[in-house]
Amino acid sequence: MKNRIAVYPGTFDPITNGHLDVIERGLKLFDGLIVAIAESPVKEPLFTVDERIKMVKDAARKYKNIKVESFDCLLIDYVRKKKANIILRGLRVISDFEYEFQMALTNRKLAPDIETAFMMTAEGYSYLSSRFIKEIARLGGRFDCFVPPNVAKMVKEKF
Ligand code: ADP
Repeated sequence: MKNRIAVYPGTFDPITNGHLDVIERGLKLFDGLIVAIAESPVKEPLFTVDERIKMVKDAARKYKNIKVESFDCLLIDYVRKKKANIILRGLRVISDFEYEFQMALTNRKLAPDIETAFMMTAEGYSYLSSRFIKEIARLGGRFDCFVPPNVAKMVKEKF
């Protein structure tokens, strides 16, 4: 059977327990997973790409068959370069759907050989987003229960 390598792309600014849940469950389906951190300059990330690579590596240390990298090209070109054939994305609430739907169909048009697979969020994480973590942190609230300990530390250091 051929190796099924999936690429899980995202901004991961910062990685949350919701992302980790997608990674953990994705690893049950695929032989290998590449967490691909998009530079996303348009989103003006709080963390640099190198900081995000470090935090994801630390947070996902216990998982085997996983790689963490960054990319700044077209996603499908990156997926091909990695000899992968699946894009893994997470789905939370209905509001994710429209964007994810557009992206998946666009990528399919550009690269019919690459499939996008969606992992439905665990219900406990359905409301969790990197954006809200940053908002809570900025306003001095507690967010430790939403992110792994190494990430909580890095977020606190930023504010
Ligand atoms: P992007 O800028 O590509 O949306 P994100 O880091 O925000 O990057 O999200 C990466 C992927 O992880 C997206 O598919 C998003 O829907 C998914 N995701 C984010 N948070 C969660 C969560 N709590 N549960 C499930 N999937 C999630």
